[in-house]
Amino acid sequence: MSPFEPASEQQMRQHFAQRVVHQARDVLQLWQRLQYQLWTTLTQHQIDDALLRWQRFAERYEDSVHLALALEARTAISAMTLEGGRLDSPSLRRVNEIMQRLAASGLRTWDDPANPAQLPPPRRPVGLLLGDLEASRHLARQLEFFGCTAQPLDSPAALHSCLREYPPAAIVIDVNFAGEGQGLTLAASIRQSVGESIPLVFHSPAEADTTTRLAAVQAGARAFVSGPLEAWNVLETLEPLLGDGPWQPFRVMIIDDSPAQAMHTERMLNDVGMITRCLNDPLQAMAELADFQPELIILDMYMPGCTGTELARAIHQNDRYVSVPIIYLSAEGDTNKQLDAMSEAGDDFLTKPIRSRQLVTVVRNRAARARGLRARMVRDSLTGLYNHTHILRELEDSCARAQREGRPLAFAMLDIDHFKRINDCHGHSMGDRVIKSLSLFLKQRLRGTDLIGRYGGEEFAIVMPGTTVDAAVAVLEDIRQRFAAIEYPARPTGVSCTFSAGVVAMAPGLRGHTLASRADAALYRAKQEGRNRIARDDN
Ligand code: GH3
Ligand code: MG
Ligand code: MG
Repeated sequence: MSPFEPASEQQMRQHFAQRVVHQARDVLQLWQRLQYQLWTTLTQHQIDDALLRWQRFAERYEDSVHLALALEARTAISAMTLEGGRLDSPSLRRVNEIMQRLAASGLRTWDDPANPAQLPPPRRPVGLLLGDLEASRHLARQLEFFGCTAQPLDSPAALHSCLREYPPAAIVIDVNFAGEGQGLTLAASIRQSVGESIPLVFHSPAEADTTTRLAAVQAGARAFVSGPLEAWNVLETLEPLLGDGPWQPFRVMIIDDSPAQAMHTERMLNDVGMITRCLNDPLQAMAELADFQPELIILDMYMPGCTGTELARAIHQNDRYVSVPIIYLSAEGDTNKQLDAMSEAGDDFLTKPIRSRQLVTVVRNRAARARGLRARMVRDSLTGLYNHTHILRELEDSCARAQREGRPLAFAMLDIDHFKRINDCHGHSMGDRVIKSLSLFLKQRLRGTDLIGRYGGEEFAIVMPGTTVDAAVAVLEDIRQRFAAIEYPARPTGVSCTFSAGVVAMAPGLRGHTLASRADAALYRAKQEGRNRIARDDN
């Protein structure tokens, strides 16, 4: 929005609310880096600067919730002291809790009950430097449809001033922007001034050769797109680079019968921002695992009731935890016994006492790899959304959590209308493109805390924690209208498409599968009543 355009008060408020959220996002990103680098006084200053900016924005734009969080975080940070290169834990844990609260909020400015359809504000704009300004403008308009703001830039000077004033979330640049090969040179100079903080994506209208692609990598490219640029392939490329969705610190469960030992391990992991849960009674493991859903387990070897090896086997025999890495942390120094344990179950053996840096490195690497593999296991390859099995599991878990916390939850099923016709008239690849585009649309428009799955061919399922059915219907209604307005280029005329949806609210005592069948019934009713509409469950 240009400052010269008249804007309604509502628009102004939304605009300012976004500033606060952008700043909060910067704070989170900095904090997140803590998991990957050692903490220094420089990091502490950077965090404090970012927190101060966040506080000022929150003050200026009267966002009391963000203001309270920012102040709390600053107090905790200023109380932190570097003792011999280690952070003191209690205040760090406090900052961590604040960041987790912020991350779990999906970064929205807190819900305005008068305006349930309010969508999460878009992140910073994406800078576009394409062959000509008109091409950039065209793409920016298309991206706007998906809720992604973009800023067309027409010269290196425009880019530099943009970098100074309001750095973009990412930059898409033509390899030949402003002259043959000049895009690459410009990108290399951006890299020099802003480092790795802004992802760079190169574009070449024609298929690029190895030399060009290598030059792009050397100039700092995170991705390379060749051929025609369209909103959906740009978004698909940007999505993993922008790390969408709320930040998730690693979740580690520590099972050790000695509370003191467990707490010691816990401290070392908390110091680098990981979330932990300690369990002193191994016989409670299954219930705790289901509740906490760890990404890695640290196990003691000798405990009353069972050995670490037995427990590791029992855990891995459960389908849900086969891929969760298990690391033994024990005082057992006999390497034969260590190897025996490892050959039975478990992924690594560490011996106490252990240096914090060693523990953290092993845990971080294993957890990151497991997270990557799991992401592939639970996702659908065409759309990157959760697959059928996983979204149902998430629904079951989210229901249990919502009931425990006494929070609302909505569940929706979507199905594209007359999809067979699209395939029949325009081919399967057009059909696939519509499916991808709807999934991108959902990812862009829904909250980071919403869970989206591809339920079947052209059917989608959405779990919306902390959302009432009214708010869910309002948001889906907005998405329905926008989606219906998209026209996909085809001959002789463009193709457009609609979807129908059924929405249901969680009620006490209901299980996930009941919600799924009720949402399905509501969806069926939406189809019966003429399609391109949203029906809610009335039970
Ligand atoms: P309705 O409005 O009642 O939902 O009609 P419809 O044509 O959408 O419903 P129907 O379930 O009869 O047809 C769905 C079609 O979707 C059938 C199947 O060939 C197609 N389909 C399923 N998965 C994919 C896919 O991954 N890609 C493509 N292109 N088509 C798919
Ligand atoms: Mg259909
Ligand atoms: Mg169908």
